[in-house]
Amino acid sequence: MDYQTLKSDIQSWALALGFQQMGVSDIDLSAAGEHLNHWLEQQYHGAMDYMHRHGSKRYQPDQLVPGTVSIISVRLDYMDTGLTPYQQLTEQPHKAAISRYALGRDYHKVLRAKLKKLTEQISEAIGPFGHRVFTDSAPVMEKAIAEKAGLGWIGKHSNLLNKNTGSYFFLGEIYTDLPLPPDPAATFHCGSCTQCLQDCPTEAIVAPFQVDARRCISYLTIENQGPIPEEFRKAMGNRIYGCDDCQVVCPWNKFTQDTQVADFAPRHGMDDIELLALFQWTEREFLSNTEGSPIRRIGYDAWQRNIAVALGNAEPDAATIQALQAKLLTASPMVKEHIEWALAELGSHDSR
Ligand code: SF4
Repeated sequence: MDYQTLKSDIQSWALALGFQQMGVSDIDLSAAGEHLNHWLEQQYHGAMDYMHRHGSKRYQPDQLVPGTVSIISVRLDYMDTGLTPYQQLTEQPHKAAISRYALGRDYHKVLRAKLKKLTEQISEAIGPFGHRVFTDSAPVMEKAIAEKAGLGWIGKHSNLLNKNTGSYFFLGEIYTDLPLPPDPAATFHCGSCTQCLQDCPTEAIVAPFQVDARRCISYLTIENQGPIPEEFRKAMGNRIYGCDDCQVVCPWNKFTQDTQVADFAPRHGMDDIELLALFQWTEREFLSNTEGSPIRRIGYDAWQRNIAVALGNAEPDAATIQALQAKLLTASPMVKEHIEWALAELGSHDSR
């Protein structure tokens, strides 16, 4: 088989399916494995025990999927630059700042459907072949793989950066037994810039390429199911789901390209919405309004916990204090503790 031609065909099919870029890497992720092990040794993964669980399968792709000899990596842009800029939202304490990737349909579903179609097209052309599709869903080092495949370089904030579009995109992978010719790896273009390290609200980027998840607002508001440590609550501001600050300040994001995926359009006005409106959702409303959205996976308790902290950082008006006090009656012990913190921050004497 002419694998160079097959690779060119796969590239054309990937673009026709709406991906912005496709590249191929080999399966030698030993350098990324060393970086991962160092990060784990520092305990920077917090309570994400699953980062340990799969051991070397994460950086030895043929251990995870036996027979894998190359990896197809794709990029799908998600940003809509016509939305209220995230930075403007973080400057309006009564509004909710939600990470821009999470406003629409769950990217896992969108990416998986497209990747599945791509594998079907390959099968139609060459017959059955060994493969498995990943969308941020298994122990896969997607950024290291994408960097090797030439899709971009890992910036000092540890996200992938592309010269033509910045960093607002998702990645997906196909592990395959097809020996496709690898692309040249991307080169590094952060230079001497350290903007993301300086501007992280909780100083979570403790050194270039080293994010201490235990300090990162994305981790604290999404992965973390327990209380948010008090030392980070003020710095959270109104960031109630994830945090985009390290991407917002990155100079490469002036090249952001708009998404072509209608499914990523914001739902329920969550791109620019009042905190109080979200705090007043019942559990039933939360479940129904976040159906098919990545936000749903944090659950109602963590959702209320995050908004309570943000309300504690907002203006101390009567409506906010009243809403917080009303929720005290029904909240779980964890949420209640965050509401009490918020009320104390707002100077309400009825808080404890
Ligand atoms: S802000 Fe600067 S250092 Fe950070 S990822 Fe962007 S270019 Fe690299």
